[in-house]
Amino acid sequence: MPEDSAVQVFSEWGFPVKNIFHIAGPCSAESEEQLMQTALALKDYDIDVMRAGIWKPRTRPGSFEGVGAVGLKWLKDAGKAANLAVTTEVATPKHVEACLKHGIDILWIGARTTSNPFAVQDIADALKGTDVPVMVKNPINPDIELWHGAVERLAQAGVKKLGIIHRGFSIYEKTVFRNQPIWRIPIEMKRRNPHLPMLCDPSHICGNTQLLFSVAQNAVDLLFNGLMLEVHIKPQAALSDSKQQLTPEEYGLLISRLKIKKVYSENRDFIENMNILRQEIDKIDHQILALLAQRMDNSKKIASLKMKNDISIFQPIRWEEVISTRIKEGAEKSLTEDFISLLYQFIHEESIRLQEQVVND
Ligand code: PEP
Ligand code: MN
Repeated sequence: MPEDSAVQVFSEWGFPVKNIFHIAGPCSAESEEQLMQTALALKDYDIDVMRAGIWKPRTRPGSFEGVGAVGLKWLKDAGKAANLAVTTEVATPKHVEACLKHGIDILWIGARTTSNPFAVQDIADALKGTDVPVMVKNPINPDIELWHGAVERLAQAGVKKLGIIHRGFSIYEKTVFRNQPIWRIPIEMKRRNPHLPMLCDPSHICGNTQLLFSVAQNAVDLLFNGLMLEVHIKPQAALSDSKQQLTPEEYGLLISRLKIKKVYSENRDFIENMNILRQEIDKIDHQILALLAQRMDNSKKIASLKMKNDISIFQPIRWEEVISTRIKEGAEKSLTEDFISLLYQFIHEESIRLQEQVVND
């Protein structure tokens, strides 16, 4: 979505946003005072909407599960006092009903709920005939179809004001991130849904405050249209997600340091140099595609040979040799192991698919 059309969408939602749509506030509503203090502390910074979780979907039982519906009034009152719109997460039709009753301005569907099409459908049905904007977080697992499907269910129910939020994906391995950003998934989601504004939630991607700025800047560089950041008046005392919440002052500083870049430039030199480099890239891509086609043709010839000699398609020793030598050669050319490894896994998979086709035909 070109920057201005996201700005247009936000203005249709009732928010006159300059470029980035800013949502900030605590992970959870904890008390009336906490919400009021947070709202009043945030109102002087760049912020469009205040967030707070009322019902908290915790992965395991036994931790703070939110204050429940009583918090909706606190949230709305805090928003009013600071002249801020407010948003919270809904996971059931009852939540939707309670939020609409209290005039919550924007709703969002959380990662654990997006993973469940039954729950999403129930929420979509509860939203029929309403006009409230709804944002859909990506599912907890890196499955773009579930994310896309959730958006489709809401759209089919007639929800017009729709947005998406990237909050990272849960994987089994421990990494520096609490949830892996896997940026190619939100990029593809946006390509499929160019009319939807896309926000990034660096707080749940990072799980701590150290990495927040770089992830937020990354999102802005990738042309995300907004940010949702967790801010608590006293992060170390927060009842949920205490490690990843910023103080209001830290939030103000982070937002002010973000560098928003333009998508286009009229500068002649820039345009000429870009054109030269892009033409070269086009030529290189042309060669890459021709070489890939040639490589796949060879694979098919190999399939016939294997078939005639009753040899298995998959050759583990050869595959090991291919991937390890390519990674080594790639490293000599400053290409990362991750990249070469993934690239060759794709090539190998396609090659096996083609060989199976040859054999089965
Ligand atoms: C949250 O926003 O506090 C939350 C629970 O997020 P997610 O659904 O992304 O885990
Ligand atoms: Mn949280």
